[in-house]
Amino acid sequence: MEAEMTVAARTADLTGGRPVVPSRGVLRPLGLSEVRITGGFWAQRQATNGRATLDHGREWMDKLGWTGNFTAEVGHGSAERRGREFSDSEVYKLIEAMSWETGRQADPARDAEITELTAMIASAQADDGYLHTAFGRSGQRARYGDLAWGHELYCAGHLLQASVARARTSGDDALLNVARRVADHVCEEFGPTGRDAVCGHPEIEPGLVELFRATGEQRYLDQAALFVARRGRRTLPRHEFGWAYFSDDIPVREAKVLRGHAVRALYLAAGVVDLAVETGDDELLETVAAQFDRTLARRTYLTGGMGSRHLDEAFSDDFVLPADRAYSETCAGIAAIMVAWRLMLATGQERYADVIERILYNVVATAIGDDGRSFFYAHTLHQRSLTPVLPGDVEQLGFGGGPRAPWFEVSCCLANTARMLASLSTYVASADDDGLRVHQYADADIDTTLADGRRVGLRMRTGYPDEGTVGIEVTAAEPGPWTLALRLPSWAAGATVTVNGQPQPVSGDRALLRRDFAVGDRIVLALPMRPRFTRPDPRIDAVRGCVAVEQGPVVLCAESVGGALDLDSLRVDAGTDPAADGGVTVRGLTEELPERQWPYADAGPVGQRTTRDVPLVPYHRWARSGPSTMRVWLPTT
Ligand SMILES: [Zn+2]
Repeated sequence: MEAEMTVAARTADLTGGRPVVPSRGVLRPLGLSEVRITGGFWAQRQATNGRATLDHGREWMDKLGWTGNFTAEVGHGSAERRGREFSDSEVYKLIEAMSWETGRQADPARDAEITELTAMIASAQADDGYLHTAFGRSGQRARYGDLAWGHELYCAGHLLQASVARARTSGDDALLNVARRVADHVCEEFGPTGRDAVCGHPEIEPGLVELFRATGEQRYLDQAALFVARRGRRTLPRHEFGWAYFSDDIPVREAKVLRGHAVRALYLAAGVVDLAVETGDDELLETVAAQFDRTLARRTYLTGGMGSRHLDEAFSDDFVLPADRAYSETCAGIAAIMVAWRLMLATGQERYADVIERILYNVVATAIGDDGRSFFYAHTLHQRSLTPVLPGDVEQLGFGGGPRAPWFEVSCCLANTARMLASLSTYVASADDDGLRVHQYADADIDTTLADGRRVGLRMRTGYPDEGTVGIEVTAAEPGPWTLALRLPSWAAGATVTVNGQPQPVSGDRALLRRDFAVGDRIVLALPMRPRFTRPDPRIDAVRGCVAVEQGPVVLCAESVGGALDLDSLRVDAGTDPAADGGVTVRGLTEELPERQWPYADAGPVGQRTTRDVPLVPYHRWARSGPSTMRVWLPTT
């Protein structure tokens, strides 16, 4: 650990709209009421999310009967229930997204919608607190009869998270009361003398810890500890994907790396960080941090995406990161942000903010269409062919090549993206014992108090990530020195910082500006935004000998809309720096390769070569102008 946890224990706090509220840690998270994104790259996406995506999610969930499953008309579930076992969780995640959105920006209509959905959900709750629309009623399977695939505790976990989001962004505890009864039921059923079992899909763990944080109810934390202790004993049934799929192959404390189904492993890791922080178990915290660090070092794509096996949506072995088979599910990216954020709050290590930024610009921003109503589920880094899109074949969309899809039968990613975007401002900055830290650069207004109670305000304005200049003006300050820390991304060698025009020393992973700030002080951070070549570890065989191009936090790609440029034969001259005159280009050549009867010989084929400047675009922009071929990793000449 970089530093001891220094912020004193805090009491349960339902104000301010923070997604994660640890009782100790190096950093104190700021809430929606303290940080507002006001313009630029993310404000535009937040506006679209709050308007189009939330409506879109509701329309589809109504149309498919997922919300209706909670109502008396279909018997609160019963045999007429529609959708997969986890569809309840999508309604909960949508409510969580709506809650952060109403916390971000008051919206009486959306607020009423949450109230309506809450009443619907409450009406489906059994007398003993159990709540799931697919199990336990006449004509349905028995409760907890299929822990591997039933997703009952998974859905409960999302309900708990949604209820905490609602409570932290409003004075309304109706959903929190439903969640408490669910959690009480789970504690009865799975407590020390109850079922000795875990759910096939982790998620209840972070949900229980957050509900503990919101209510102070110790038994919820104890139950999370029990679930974490029970995982890894292979109590779930044997399965063709192996126990690693469920993270049930080895105990959490013995694992060295994340493995198996990526979203499952990452949700579990988030819950384990929460648990370790609340129980003061620094050994457990170091264990899960080491697992995540090793996963970053060996099992993560350049985009920050995780999961390279389509078959089981899973992590593969170390360095098995094929570009054209990148699964990199949107939800895995968001779950990795959850883990990174929790680790950064606990340890203060700024490098986790680099990880968050990488995922935001290259997975989250890629996942959603400009209309806020279309989505990628998976994120390939190499699209070879133009995906033929058959009418009505919605599932075929959204995996690359063709348009983003309006919906999926498994539509986990949509509401996940919505809750991430609605709560995004809370990831911009945090407070520590010395002052404030800025982690993400965006147009944002910050108004908060320091650890000693002094009020401080900042106005940040920037064209980032298109431009590297970030201007920060102090808008509120009280006498006495404090430290403003600005993250220096790992790629930003040569960054400069001035305060009121005076250059400041810059080194390490953040610029530390300690002074008696006054209203009107101006800080300017200049990050170098020249496009740069990036080379992979040679153990990533699939892209050995290739380069990628990055510009600031943004991964670029070569894209051929309609397949007009032959990306199969493209090679680039890595000895000539990428040019950045009105758009990034690299020197490269394409080759008209002859057809052969057998694709192997003592020498490669030689065809007509054409030297050209190849334009690159941000990876998050790909496939927005129609079906295209695309590659991030470019072979060199
Ligand atoms: Zn998903």
